[in-house]
Amino acid sequence: MEQISCKICNSKSELVFTSKCLKKYEVKYFKCNHCGYLFTEDPFWLNEAYERSINISDTGLISRNIFFSQILSVLIYFNFNKDATFLDYAGGYGLFTRLMRDIGFDFYWYDPYTQNLFANGFEKKLDNNIKFELITAFEVFEHFEQPNQELLKMFKLTNTVVFSTELIPQEIPDPALWWYYGFEHGQHISFYSSRTFEYLANKYDLNYYNTNGIQFLTKKRLNKNQLIVFKKLRNLGLLRFVKSRMRSKTLEDWERLKNKP
Ligand SMILES: [Zn+2]
Repeated sequence: MEQISCKICNSKSELVFTSKCLKKYEVKYFKCNHCGYLFTEDPFWLNEAYERSINISDTGLISRNIFFSQILSVLIYFNFNKDATFLDYAGGYGLFTRLMRDIGFDFYWYDPYTQNLFANGFEKKLDNNIKFELITAFEVFEHFEQPNQELLKMFKLTNTVVFSTELIPQEIPDPALWWYYGFEHGQHISFYSSRTFEYLANKYDLNYYNTNGIQFLTKKRLNKNQLIVFKKLRNLGLLRFVKSRMRSKTLEDWERLKNKP
C-alpha cells in the first residue's frame, strides 16, 4: 500500500483511491487515519485548474453568499465587536464583502487569484501589523495546498477565522457519489473531518466550533449552542433587528468611490 506523510499531522497516510481530475489526470487521494485529513498527491494540475479561478460549475455562488452574509451578520453582531474591521479571505468576486458592507459591517476583500468585481476600493493587502476582528474564508479550505501554513498566516491577522467547507463523513464517500471532490474542476485538494479541525485547534491552541456548516477556529471562547440558536433565529426577526441597528455603508461607499479617478 502506497503511503505518504499527512500534510497536517505528519502521520502515515494511505492511498485510498485514484480518480480522473480535469477529465485527464489520474490523481491519487490519501487519507490520514490519525487526523482524518484526506488530500491529493502533490497537485501538479493546479495552474490548469485555476485558468478560471471561480469554477464555472459553481451554480451555488450567489445564494451561498447571501446565506452566509445573513448568518454572519447575526453572529458578528452578538459575539464580536461589530464596529471593528473584518476581512474576507480569498474573497472571490467580492460579493460577500459588498453584501456585508451593505448591511453595515466594515469588511475588506483579499484574493490573490480572482478579480474583485463587487468590492472595488475595499481591497486589503496582508500586513501583519493590521489586525482584523474576524476573517471569513468560505469555500476556501478545500483549496489549500498547505493548510498548516495557511492557518498560521491567517492567525497572524486575527484571533478568529470563520469558514465553511464540507466535512468528510467517517466513511470516506465513494468517488462516484460525492460531488464535493470536484474532479471536473480539479480545485478541491484538501478534505477535512471534524477530527482534523479538532487536531488543528489543539495544535494551535484554538477552539473549534461547528454550527452545522458555519465553522469557527478561534482564540475566543464562544457558546456553541448560542451560535446555533442565533443562526436559527435569523429568519425569525433577528436579522431584521441587526439590520435596523447597523448603518448600511452602501451610500457612504458610493460617496467615497464616485470621485475616484
Ligand atoms: Zn493527519
